[in-house]
Formats: sequence, C-alpha cells, structure tokens
Amino acid sequence: MNVHQLLEDLIHGERLALAKSITLVESRKAEDRVASTELMILVDKHLQGKLHKASGDQDINGWTMAITGPPGAGKSTFIDKLGIHLVDRGHRVAVLAIDPSSARSGGSILGDKTRMQQLASRDEAYIRPSPSGATHGGTTAVTKEAIDLCLAAGYDTVLVETVGVGQNEIAVSDLVDWTLLLLMGRSGDDLQGIKRGIVEAADMVLVNKADGEGYEPATETQRYYQSALSLFPPHTLSGWKVPCLAISSVQDVGWDSYWRTMKDLNALPQLPDWIHNKRASQRVSTFHRMLSKALLEHWSSSHSTSGYDDLESALRSGQLSPAQAVSERLKVWGFPK
Ligand code: GDP
Repeated sequence: MNVHQLLEDLIHGERLALAKSITLVESRKAEDRVASTELMILVDKHLQGKLHKASGDQDINGWTMAITGPPGAGKSTFIDKLGIHLVDRGHRVAVLAIDPSSARSGGSILGDKTRMQQLASRDEAYIRPSPSGATHGGTTAVTKEAIDLCLAAGYDTVLVETVGVGQNEIAVSDLVDWTLLLLMGRSGDDLQGIKRGIVEAADMVLVNKADGEGYEPATETQRYYQSALSLFPPHTLSGWKVPCLAISSVQDVGWDSYWRTMKDLNALPQLPDWIHNKRASQRVSTFHRMLSKALLEHWSSSHSTSGYDDLESALRSGQLSPAQAVSERLKVWGFPK
C-alpha cells in the first residue's frame, strides 16, 4: 500500500481515500498495522502543521463534538438537522456513528435503519457508521484515529454519535473537544437511569422532542436537569455553566437558544486555551491507550496462550480467583513477583 499517495488523496478531500483510511486503521490484520501506523504518523504531522499555521490564537482548527444519549433519544435526527444547518453555512461535516453491534450476535442494530437521510445526500457531509466491536458500546478502539482522519480530509466539524449505555461515554468525552448529552423528556424520572458520570462528562445537555405532546414533559425534564446541574462542581472552562435546553429535532423549537448558547461559548476568551489544553492532555492519554494496546497485541502474538483453558475452567468452577489466575499467568511468563 502506498501510504503517501493515500495521505495525499485524503488531504485533497477524496471521500474514497477517507473511507479507505478509516478501514485501514480499523483493520485487525497484522499486515495492515504497519501501514496504519505510518499513515497516522503522517496525519498527525499534517494536523500539527495546520495548527501551527492557523491564524491567531482564536483559531481552534476544527471542532469535534460527541453526541451521546440513550437509544431513541433522537441523536441521529438531531445530527441530521444540526449537520444540514452547518453545511448550509459553509461547513464540512463528518459524522462517525458508533454502531453498537451486539457482542453476542455480531450483528448491528443500525444496519436496517436509514439514518441522517438529508445530511447523507449532501456532498459537504461524510457519514461513517463504525462497529463498536468488543468495546461494549461507547467508542471503538480507533475512534480517535478516525476523528483525526476526518479532520485531515478537511472536515472542520466532526460529530461522534454514541449510545449512552454505560460508563463508556466518559471515554468518548476524552476524544473530543465538546460533549453534548441528548435526552428526551420524561417527567418524574430520576435522571432517567442515566449514570451521574455521564451527566458530569457533558458540556451541554439537551432535552429533545420538545414538540406537540412531548413539549410539557421535555420542559419539565429540562428544568429538573438545569437545577441538578447547578449542584455539580464548576466546569473546567471558567465562565461556562453547563446549560440544559429543551429542543425539537423535527420542529423549530429551541434552536434559537441552541445557537445563542454556542455563540456565547465561542465568545468566551478562555475557550481557545481550554481547547488547546484539553487536546494536549488527550494526546497524552491517547499515547497511554495506544501503548497498552500495542503491548498487549505484541505480547499475545509472541507468547503462548496454552494453559488458558485450564485457567478458565478453574475460574468458572471457583477454584481460582481472577487475581490468582493473573498471578499464575504472570508466573508462567516469568514475571518477578
Ligand atoms: P437515536 O436512537 O437516539 O439516534 O434516535 P433517532 O434519531 O433514531 O430517533 C428515534 C425516534 O424519535 C425516531 O422515530 C425519530 O423520528 C423520533 N424523533 C427524533 N427526534 C424527535 C423530535 O425532536 N421530536 C419528535 N416528536 N420525535 C423525534
């Protein structure tokens, strides 16, 4: 594979090159790993170069935002409407929809659903469903790489859609600039079973479906969250209070407030520094994540896993505790105690 050619096509915004590049970094084949690493090194160099050329401190060079929330809250519908609004104003929008493939069946629940139809028909938009595979929902092992590939391909806005099924959404907030939690109105429900950690990781909360009969429950839920959020520790971006707005993704309700809030955010003089620092920390955590992954892959390809079956049955029958099994294994591999 000619990685330099692929990079060149990618930077020229060729959709096929972007699709190929994401497939390459998602590949688990050993022979793709070298090309994928080489590509990501070049992509990072390109993005860093762009960053240094960016004019003025206010230029934060691309905007990446996660949209998390429970299934059915309206994430795809919201992204469709938001995306159209953005491309109509000259932006190029990429959407990475993390497909919560069922670990048991290996199947996908999104496959049969036509999503983001309006946005999908626009040349300025790119939509990519990615199977979440074995990572239980939130993000794939290479979501960060896919985000960077979209930025390198000239998409100035990258939206990552994930299902709010568990703690994984805390991880997605470590990959993007901004995390938006999308809920739907349902009155009388204590945080709708949404884990506190997910709400804490949100930079903004929207209660969707504030239209028709849904208007009352949505505004009630919005008020509930607004007061719950006021009790949370202050946001790390000084001057920012996590807002909660009621919105409709099918009607024109709440969008004025949404854009006003985004405008207020962009007007915060401390925003560029906050984003720069956040991205800097994310580079460090990406390094740690990649190193663990690489070590594990290297180790499993070069060390025998024989004896695993016995260990696993001892674990199942309760003869060994997981901690004992780990220490047995480390002994076999010759680790010091
Ligand atoms: P997702 O699973 O979070 O991506 O949710 P979808 O975007 O697929 O939406 C789930 C259902 O809610 C679909 O039938 C949508 O048409 C509907 N829906 C989404 N947003 C709204 C909204 O703002 N108002 C109303 N009334 N229905 C909505």
